[in-house]
Amino acid sequence: MANVEFAGVRKSFGAFPVIKGVDIAIEDGEFVILVGPSGCGKSTLLRMLAGLENISDGEIRIGGRSVNHLPPKERDIAMVFQNYALYPHMTVAKNMAFSLMLNSASKEEIDKRVNYAAGILGLNTLLDRYPRQLSGGQRQRVAMGRAIVRDPQVFLFDEPLSNLDAKLRVAMRAEIKELHQRLKTTTVYVTHDQIEAMTMADKIVVMHDGRVEQIGSPLELYDRPNNLFVAGFIGSPAMNMIKGTLSPSAPDVFISGDGTRLPLPHAFPNAVGKALVYGLRPEYIRLDAAGQPAEVVVIEPTGYETHIVAKFGGTEVACIFRERVQVAPGESITIAIDHQHVHLFDEQTGMRLLD
Ligand code: ATP
Repeated sequence: MANVEFAGVRKSFGAFPVIKGVDIAIEDGEFVILVGPSGCGKSTLLRMLAGLENISDGEIRIGGRSVNHLPPKERDIAMVFQNYALYPHMTVAKNMAFSLMLNSASKEEIDKRVNYAAGILGLNTLLDRYPRQLSGGQRQRVAMGRAIVRDPQVFLFDEPLSNLDAKLRVAMRAEIKELHQRLKTTTVYVTHDQIEAMTMADKIVVMHDGRVEQIGSPLELYDRPNNLFVAGFIGSPAMNMIKGTLSPSAPDVFISGDGTRLPLPHAFPNAVGKALVYGLRPEYIRLDAAGQPAEVVVIEPTGYETHIVAKFGGTEVACIFRERVQVAPGESITIAIDHQHVHLFDEQTGMRLLD
């Protein structure tokens, strides 16, 4: 096991910069997820860590040692790919044993490690099958088994669950997390799915356009996003964003474009006169007979909760209510906001205003 550091890392393809100066410190044993929209550079960063792409500038260190010039096989890492990359003509056991055979490990050592990995992943009864005889989830497990047998310092995962259906993705999420809890191997995992990031990571790195927007634990990012990008990216349904300004006479009241008055947890005297965005997570809106009116646009009962989109504050806001709500589109509900949990951002810079 080892820590991993990216220090001032840059990467250009020709004249086109895709990684624009990235610093990330990953501790020994941590499960870190790089998340961001398509094209933000997360796979490129992972591939540079794996040694599959050159670095244009900066340094990558594994266990304190610069790996900039080390070929992949000398980095002591194991990578699990989105398409599993299993050898179709080899059995499950051979697929898992292959890298050990290349390294001339003894038959005894190979059997021991393959059986250990198969035991952890529940593959013992499938060792003689070929990849085509496996389900998607089982293939993914074999790909992980192949990484586990190598007992590397660092596991790298590149969108490993994208090819699975929704139900299996949820099951595999839990399996990978459990695997990490057992093995405690430093893990760097790339996904564009913020739910995957929230549910699995010790630490999330949110990337956008070749840069790191914020690094933190899932709940730090959820509760205190640094900027509008992170606020909008983390959370599902997404944070509601209402544009407006502060009341000049009462800087603890936000006034939306349509004149709706929304109390803030405290005054923001320095933000008077600025264009602002009021951020409100859907679960901090509740039904309240004495609240403010909102017109229902869409109602989505999930059984456990009721999701409603309603016109409010000059925009449409998503609300999540724990109770069942009997209401039809076009009708009005009255809502109240738990204003201790609202966020305020400068619309121009996108930055969070300090609380
Ligand atoms: P996705 O989730 O779609 O895979 P990503 O965040 O992983 O996206 P990367 O694959 O790292 O993004 O790509 C980042 C940028 O680098 C993109 O604009 C992509 O087009 C570009 N890029 C990636 N590989 C190359 C290459 N070999 N040559 C030129 N440009 C590349």
